[in-house]
Amino acid sequence: MKNGPFSRREFIKRNSLTGLGAVLAPSVLASVPAPSLPTKPFSSSLNEPLALLGGKPIRAKQWPVWPIWKPETDEKQLLEVIRSGIWSRAGVVTEFEAQWAATVGAKRCLSVVNGTNALIAALAQFDVRGGDEVLVPAYTFIGTVAPVLATGAMPVFVDIDPETFQMDPAKLEARITPRTRAIIPVHILGLPVDMKSILAIAKKHNLVVIEDACQAHLAEINHQKVGTFGDAGCFSFQNSKNLAIGEGGAIVSNNDAFMDRCFSYHNYGNPYGTVSGVIGIGTLMQGTKLRLTEYQAAIGLALLKRLDAETTTRNENAAYLKAKISHLPGIVPYKLYDDVTRAAFHLFPFRFHQEKFKGLSRETFVKALTAEGIPCSKGYAPLNKMPYLDDAFKSKNYRKMYPKEALDFKKYVERNACPQNDRICNEEAVWLTQNMLLGTRQDMDDIANAIEKIYGQADKLLAQK
Ligand SMILES: *Cc1c(COP(=O)(O)O)cnc(C)c1O
Repeated sequence: MKNGPFSRREFIKRNSLTGLGAVLAPSVLASVPAPSLPTKPFSSSLNEPLALLGGKPIRAKQWPVWPIWKPETDEKQLLEVIRSGIWSRAGVVTEFEAQWAATVGAKRCLSVVNGTNALIAALAQFDVRGGDEVLVPAYTFIGTVAPVLATGAMPVFVDIDPETFQMDPAKLEARITPRTRAIIPVHILGLPVDMKSILAIAKKHNLVVIEDACQAHLAEINHQKVGTFGDAGCFSFQNSKNLAIGEGGAIVSNNDAFMDRCFSYHNYGNPYGTVSGVIGIGTLMQGTKLRLTEYQAAIGLALLKRLDAETTTRNENAAYLKAKISHLPGIVPYKLYDDVTRAAFHLFPFRFHQEKFKGLSRETFVKALTAEGIPCSKGYAPLNKMPYLDDAFKSKNYRKMYPKEALDFKKYVERNACPQNDRICNEEAVWLTQNMLLGTRQDMDDIANAIEKIYGQADKLLAQK
């Protein structure tokens, strides 16, 4: 990316490319008939050589770092905890749980070691077991599906609506069988899923609904926080998430008996609340240990103070950026459902249409955008056909619990085909991360300009290949 000395040939090439760029004015209004002037201000940086081809990047500035830690305001309680020597679960964890429950508007909250285990605990305490089927969207993180396999249940994949990137309720019912026990709607990328339609289907078929809100802190549908629509909601506080603790997770629900069981389960099955028996009888339930530490809770409480303001900033910047790039040919930003009143924007996704970029591959587009100082990625690969599934199906447990037919991997992959998801994963999705949305309007302009610069000079990237 250096602008160091270059050969005479390269010098000529660069200058001729620049000249060509100027003639071809890479504005998106290039389709306007030749004599008319572009209606938007001329931006010379868009005509400079692409950074991937050795030019100056649109942006050299750092993006906001994540997580954000402010010693002045964030360290007091954490230091008190560390100096107290009370590090295992006690009052600060309870305080964090009370605050998270209040923040999302749930009756109860239990913190656990991570979002993956929040989902495992929730599935187990709704008695999802071997032989059951659980519906999951194809477009998600492995952390949604691994918990299903951990319970011994069978994940069944539902295709997505490519406009929203979310589980498509219209594809849901066809995948329900007599073995279906639960649905895990995932508010993937921090954009709320169509809960209204999913809840109606769940009700009709008497299915448990466990929301995976691991990317969707403070997202809302009709002013109600996600994670509170289903029977339970699960959150992650892993380092990259919008509320970061390093590792951590939570289950929220209004169901007291279920939450008591979750608490007991997360503490070896020892008595808690309605999980009680004869005094002195000891451990009551099959459980494990998933307790959060006091210092993790202190970090969570510190960062929770900023979450609402940060979420507002992400929403404002996302709306601004979306408006700025929506008119670019070949760039189709996410769509939100009509009842969404706030998103979390753990990621800012858009679809890239190669044919509008003169056939430029997404791979090269992502490299070119990153080279311009706008880090981005292609996002998820299809989860419905990866080897981890076959590995589970070959295990002793699965072979005991399912008929041979159900474990034929090739047939499983066919049954679980999700063509929309394949297209999004393999060809179209491009992501920007949430920390970038904590920047300024100018930062958003940089993103839009970099995309437009690549659009205008796509032919040069093709010539390179
Ligand atoms: C992060 C994440 C998980 C798992 O959370 P961890 O805390 O990392 O275990 C589950 N589902 C989704 C959609 C996630 O993004």
